[in-house]
Amino acid sequence: MEESGGDNRKGSDEISLLAEELIQLSIKCSMVVPSVKPTLICTIWIEKPYNPESFKAQMKSIWKTRKKFEIQMARQNLFLIVFDSEEDLQTVMEGWSWLFRKNLLLFDRLIKPMEKNQMWLNSSPFWIKIGSCLPEFDKKDLLHAIGVTFGGVIRSEIIEDSCRLRINLDVQKPLRRGIFVSIDNKNKSWISFKYEKFPMFCFGCGKMGHGLNDCIGLNPAEKNKIRDDPTLWH
Ligand SMILES: [Zn+2]
Repeated sequence: MEESGGDNRKGSDEISLLAEELIQLSIKCSMVVPSVKPTLICTIWIEKPYNPESFKAQMKSIWKTRKKFEIQMARQNLFLIVFDSEEDLQTVMEGWSWLFRKNLLLFDRLIKPMEKNQMWLNSSPFWIKIGSCLPEFDKKDLLHAIGVTFGGVIRSEIIEDSCRLRINLDVQKPLRRGIFVSIDNKNKSWISFKYEKFPMFCFGCGKMGHGLNDCIGLNPAEKNKIRDDPTLWH
């Protein structure tokens, strides 16, 4: 305050002016406005409380960026990650699914001014490996058709018999284990999905963010059944 002063305002006038400025600032703070630097919004898909400082420290140590980045806390479990370089933002976005204590990080790019309380992330890009399919299927068509059921294809990759699909997965929905494909409406063929680099996940209800022990969707007898025979889920 003293450095920016430099004028001759004195006494109670100066104090009341500062109080007004403080009120204005707190209103502005509820909006997050994109800066000139590339910025990601990030949240952790986690049910237990955690220390935001240890999250920041861990990301600083695992993201090998070329230039600096800064992690700011926007509100509880919502961070702004401000990069010095666009390339570094891309590297983080394109990298593997990032985890914090086995919990998935969700990202989106900050492109327009947003109200902090309305910033909410519930999806994340994932690679899915598509199980083997009948030789008569056109792999490109198949990947496209599967991608549509996830809301669209981000990227697809066909290397000989191996097919992979990058899609945006809604982490609130139970995971699908695969899909039936039918050509003539009579014969159905099952194609399995394998989610790559998967975070903490419940074999009971198929959702992320908790393990089977902590699942509130199943009773103890149902949990025991799955524990005895995990293939029930698969
Ligand atoms: Zn569950």
